[in-house]
Amino acid sequence: MSKKVLVTGTSVAPKFLEPLQRAGFEVKNPVHLLTEHELQMELSGSSAYLMGGDEYVTANSLNDAKRLRIIAFLGVGYESFIDVKAATEHGIAVTNTPGTLTDSVAELTVGQLLNARRRLAQYCNAFRRGEHGAEEKQYDLAGHTVGIVGLGAIGTRIAEILTVGFHATVNYYSRTRKPLEEDRLGISMLPLKDLASVSESLVLMVPGNSSTHHMIDHGVIAALPTGALLINTARPEIVDPVALRQGLNSGTVSVAAYDNFYDGEVGQQLMHDFGDDKLLVTGHIGSLTHDARDGMARKAVQSIISYTETGTDEYVVNKLL
Ligand code: NAP
Repeated sequence: MSKKVLVTGTSVAPKFLEPLQRAGFEVKNPVHLLTEHELQMELSGSSAYLMGGDEYVTANSLNDAKRLRIIAFLGVGYESFIDVKAATEHGIAVTNTPGTLTDSVAELTVGQLLNARRRLAQYCNAFRRGEHGAEEKQYDLAGHTVGIVGLGAIGTRIAEILTVGFHATVNYYSRTRKPLEEDRLGISMLPLKDLASVSESLVLMVPGNSSTHHMIDHGVIAALPTGALLINTARPEIVDPVALRQGLNSGTVSVAAYDNFYDGEVGQQLMHDFGDDKLLVTGHIGSLTHDARDGMARKAVQSIISYTETGTDEYVVNKLL
């Protein structure tokens, strides 16, 4: 019986799928965003699933996935897109592609910080409108105090760029202390509210899950110095949107930058109420570079082949019984 692999999204170039075909997989690559029902239908006949689209893998979508052995997620923030508990209960391995997008997301994050600090996009638009001369003085990043929440792969790379490249002063808060990085980069770990109180900019780089949901709440935002920058290129839900609104209204937060935003009415209302002088939002483009996407595709394809052939792969994130 032929093995089918479902590939979603449009970012995986056909040449990266050739190893799957050589390994005996029939590749199915619908280009539109699958509904839960469509995903359930597709997965009912699939042995592997290379997840590159923006669909959500709910428990329901796995109900008929009797042959499915692996979901290879393109990226690292899999918890926001896959019900990992349901996959585990079905005996399905979930893999991710760490290391392939670290530079891309770190670069976007520092770009957003620089944009917010020096108002690059705003002043480009002003010049085009003939408003040259009305710009106000801004501040350098050198000497700027930045707090990083989540010193993992991407957070560490951001810290490196900001300290070594920009001579900013960096502190961090994370689940686990990182003494080696503290020594290497001259950074210190602080409790979250203390970090907020000394950070002219707060950069968020923790995963989106129940332990980080609304981690940046009224208390953390109120602790920030007046006029702080809030850079959230991780997941929107890490910040309570009501606290964000209050922070922007009160001036505690002068600019907030996001890569991906709140769904529905909450996000629309914030975008309506705050202009591009206060709210800078990109549409989840952190890893949207050729370098990152090609590396992710290679790694995910390799995980599918190695897991289906040997039953193991170093990038499996869930523990199967
Ligand atoms: P990572 O290496 O796993 O780093 C995450 C860090 O957060 C780790 O240091 C972890 O602590 C820490 N952490 C986890 N839960 C925490 C909690 N409750 N409180 C405090 N710290 C906590 O992941 P990464 O590769 O740096 O990626 C981080 C996140 O970036 C992803 O999960 C994703 O949401 C986001 N991301 C966004 C884009 C984009 O396109 N914008 C692309 C890729 C990733 P430990 O050291 O103890 O594990």
